[in-house]
Amino acid sequence: MRKYIITGVQGCGKGTQAALLARDFDLVHISVGDIFRWHIQSHTKLAARIQRFTIEGKLVPDELVEEVVRQRLDQHDWNFGFILDGFPRNANQASFFLESFDIDAVILVDVPDKVVLDRIMNRRLCEKCGLDYNLIFHRPKVDGICDVCKGNLVARADDNPEAVRSRLRDYHEKTAPILELFSRKELIIKVDGTRDATAVQQEIRSKLNLQK
Ligand code: AMP
Repeated sequence: MRKYIITGVQGCGKGTQAALLARDFDLVHISVGDIFRWHIQSHTKLAARIQRFTIEGKLVPDELVEEVVRQRLDQHDWNFGFILDGFPRNANQASFFLESFDIDAVILVDVPDKVVLDRIMNRRLCEKCGLDYNLIFHRPKVDGICDVCKGNLVARADDNPEAVRSRLRDYHEKTAPILELFSRKELIIKVDGTRDATAVQQEIRSKLNLQK
């Protein structure tokens, strides 16, 4: 059983890296941001409570985040383990999580702010299947159309400059400090996220001693 957290500033590529690890090592990929986006698209009761935070790029209150994470982990469909993407994002969330779970490693995908700002402003998402594109290094074959399901490609509502700056600020003020806690427990492996996705994935696997 493998239990990982993947972290880094928004747009560092952690979602892509988590998906690759999950695919090859049978891990359940739990992305709190994806779960929230699903609620918003599906107009659930929770959507009304979280939407104003997500649109402005602000952190959703801890009790709602904890509820979503607890419900997801309570499904116990993670026989081979899980990778948590975008959680914990502050000290409260970290202590809630560590009360119930231990962790094997925290993967920190390191990318400077100015690089992620550029990436995020060029990020597009298929509104049908959720696949990620980037207009600089992963363009769709036909402009605005998903290669796989032919859905429309759209920018995320929270990928505007103010929301991005707010997310970067939150990361440095609230998320980065909890990494010190994980670092004291020698759980952090840091990888250079400025390279292409395959190279980043190789570095992660080699540092985690994972072989496929
Ligand atoms: P992400 O896809 O990880 O960038 O998350 C999208 C948005 O969901 C964030 O900007 C927050 O509004 C919210 N969100 C995701 N994860 C968390 C979390 N752990 N704590 C609080 N808010 C979160």
